Amino acid sequence: MFYISTRGRAESVSGSAAIITGMAPDGGLYVPGKQLHLNSDLISGLEAKSYVERALAILQPYLPEFDRSCLQDWLAAAYSRERFAHPAVVPLHRTSEKLFFQELWHGPTAAFKDLALQLLPYLLTGSAEAMSEKAEIAILVATSGDTGKAALEGFRDVPGTRVIVFFPEKGVSTVQKRQMITQEGQNVHVAAVRGNFDDAQSGVKEIFGDPVLGRTLAARGFRLSSANSINWGRLVPQITYYFSAYLDLVQENILPFGSAVNFVVPTGNFGNIMAGFYARRAGLPLRRLICATNTNDVLTRFIRGGAYDAGRPLVRTASPSMDILISSNLERLLFELTGNAARVRGWMGELAANRHYTVDASTRQEVRSVFWSDRAGEAETTAAIARCFRHRNYLIDPHTAVGLTVYGKYVAATADQTPTVILSTASPFKFNESVARSILEPRQIRGLTEEELLEVLAAETGQPVPAALRGLNQKPVLHHTVVGRHEMKETVLDFLK
Ligand SMILES: *Cc1c(COP(=O)(O)O)cnc(C)c1O
Repeated sequence: MFYISTRGRAESVSGSAAIITGMAPDGGLYVPGKQLHLNSDLISGLEAKSYVERALAILQPYLPEFDRSCLQDWLAAAYSRERFAHPAVVPLHRTSEKLFFQELWHGPTAAFKDLALQLLPYLLTGSAEAMSEKAEIAILVATSGDTGKAALEGFRDVPGTRVIVFFPEKGVSTVQKRQMITQEGQNVHVAAVRGNFDDAQSGVKEIFGDPVLGRTLAARGFRLSSANSINWGRLVPQITYYFSAYLDLVQENILPFGSAVNFVVPTGNFGNIMAGFYARRAGLPLRRLICATNTNDVLTRFIRGGAYDAGRPLVRTASPSMDILISSNLERLLFELTGNAARVRGWMGELAANRHYTVDASTRQEVRSVFWSDRAGEAETTAAIARCFRHRNYLIDPHTAVGLTVYGKYVAATADQTPTVILSTASPFKFNESVARSILEPRQIRGLTEEELLEVLAAETGQPVPAALRGLNQKPVLHHTVVGRHEMKETVLDFLK
């Protein structure tokens, strides 16, 4: 397998080079250079296998330059019982004959980003070795909350790497912030940015695109790379769990092998759902990918009408990890559907210049043949958490609740009865303030500290507080840096002395 840029003006590269670089030098994103198809015997053969074995079979064809036993060791370490609290790694929770939640939050930071970011350090250091890269790799991350912590945990004290995380000062939940500013490790740096996620993300993209800065850092022995979902190494591990959910359904006799499922994906940067698209391309019988958005519904408007409009204000919601206007990975979809790098370049140019572009009718049709989308408002999200808890006795977080709300709208609009998996992207305890407000009376939670709130939720629901979130308030704050949107370059230079 080789990788090419969505903008068509960069050389094709190996998987290792794509992972080390993060982003193609022409400003595009790396995508597989040819369509990969996994044959159905290979897939059905994974039915009785563990998550690690499934991941090995699915990921190897995408990353053939890694030795099979090496990849197996990495997967076994990344998805071990020390790191994932559930033996199934990504268990399915069944709420009816037709509806399942895949819990992607049993890892060390209680959100789905761990599935990729526990593996990425191995892929990255393995790639550096394959490429005889001598420089220390500095991972630069812009986070809407969950990627930052997951990257810090994944890369802490990994030899030959440094991690720098920028998060929007007021755009993350209390727990998310606390998790990041208390991060331990010899190679980690954290800074709050005065602005929103898009500010942090565009700041990071600017740093990647600055050749002068790149040379300065190279002279100091550093090479920049990314742990955001623009990096193929971040996206590829996510393909596994779509297959894994499907195999679980077959194994539990809920579906015969070969019959279709839908997935609902709470979406922000379009990375998770894009992994679903690649799973479908590779042969997973996936009928519809249902893209669930919050009030920041740019993607819903795009999927419905073909016009991408980021020229609106970003609104803060109870699902902060989806508060995004520029969904980077949509570029991969546009390239995959059109195969036309010149057109992608044109659209991305318009987006950069005018914050807006409109695709042609046939591309729009292609998008709609796979995706369906709707949004969930704040009141709907709160109501969905409460209803799911009362009627299904199952507690979900606000991102997952956006998914559940949109699933309801999908069924109402289409009457589609296909079995459906909602990706549960975070533990409800990670967003305990909004979850508590949804299911408890104000008097039950007034004046409680974060820690007490977790205990009240645990008592009320009978579910344990994830180990990842216990004792957060006792941890000392180790990172105090707060910077303006235009001080990010300086900050990187300062951290990488
Ligand atoms: C990151 C995140 C999302 C959005 O995923 P994308 O890949 O950016 O679309 C949804 N929910 C949670 C909890 C997240 O952390």
